[in-house]
Amino acid sequence: MPRVVRFKKMKDNAMQVLITGGAGFIGSHLAEALLARGDRVAVLDNLSTGSFSNITHLTTNPNFSFAIESISNDLVLDRLASQADAIVHLAAAVGVQLVVERPTETIETNVIGTHAVLAAARRYRCRTLLASTSEVYGKSAEIPFKEENDLLLGSSSHSRWGYAASKLLDEFLGLAAFREYSLPITITRFFNTVGPRQTGRYGMVIPRFVQQALRHEAITVFGDGEQSRCFCHVGDVVQALLALLNRPELTGGQIYNIGSNQEVTINQLAKKVIEQADSASTLKHIPYNEAYAPGFEDMRRRVPDINKIHEAIGWAPSRTLTEILDDVIHFERQRLT
Ligand code: UDP
Repeated sequence: MPRVVRFKKMKDNAMQVLITGGAGFIGSHLAEALLARGDRVAVLDNLSTGSFSNITHLTTNPNFSFAIESISNDLVLDRLASQADAIVHLAAAVGVQLVVERPTETIETNVIGTHAVLAAARRYRCRTLLASTSEVYGKSAEIPFKEENDLLLGSSSHSRWGYAASKLLDEFLGLAAFREYSLPITITRFFNTVGPRQTGRYGMVIPRFVQQALRHEAITVFGDGEQSRCFCHVGDVVQALLALLNRPELTGGQIYNIGSNQEVTINQLAKKVIEQADSASTLKHIPYNEAYAPGFEDMRRRVPDINKIHEAIGWAPSRTLTEILDDVIHFERQRLT
């Protein structure tokens, strides 16, 4: 029997959307896009990894509001959820480096924070997108990764897998709320999302390589550099989120990969950055145990299967890696001047 999904009816065509982690890289781009299409946006962010400068330009918009607070502040979360038609839950520990250096904070933020957000969503019947990650596929070699694949996490003695396990628990919590309470929750598994405003502080490879290239410093390639990733422009990711928000009856209770399927090795990426930034930099290979921690495990390949989201909402990424790098180089050049 088809499941009846109950969610708040919107008062007019515009939505009131609460974005947790809205001062972050993806959140701030999403806030901009929602405002541009006439929706109202409230941001809840404790600025732990986000930055106020990402949303400063939005603060004069009458449809925009923000609270600099943690999602663990129940009172604030409750008030914002009570006013929201939809919640996009992006607040989470981000970046492999942060996850390895601060494992307790990572797990607590992801699990306790998501539990609080889901409880608030349930009280006010908010349509909710829960951000998950391609990290949950772990060391699986079943390329490309499909949403229904088995997941292969490494040993709990490696902090990296604590991040994956905490996000996986978030997914279980979200899907349980869908099944038990008919809450229209959708899980989005982000693959490597990149673009302007992403910080290199927590390990992300493209902002780091671009900053190193613009300073003509050595490009720090970890391991042998033959591991590969697929990079998706944040503008494309935002288009996927907007379309998913519009279709709660179709996408509730579903998991979707969101990413590009154009694979590139980290060595190729480093050379492309050097070329496009017109840089004199050279590659410097650094062993993983020096770059992260002893025994660090990396994924050799990470490629999403994006047929499910394409079939559901017609989404596919549109920007090439060349366009992505041009955008990031332009952004980082402006920051340097
Ligand atoms: N990486 C690198 N040099 C850096 C930062 C990252 O070679 O300065 C590598 C990292 O080991 C991984 C890939 O680039 O194999 C992507 O790293 P990122 O942290 O951006 O995302 P991940 O896919 O690991 O979540």
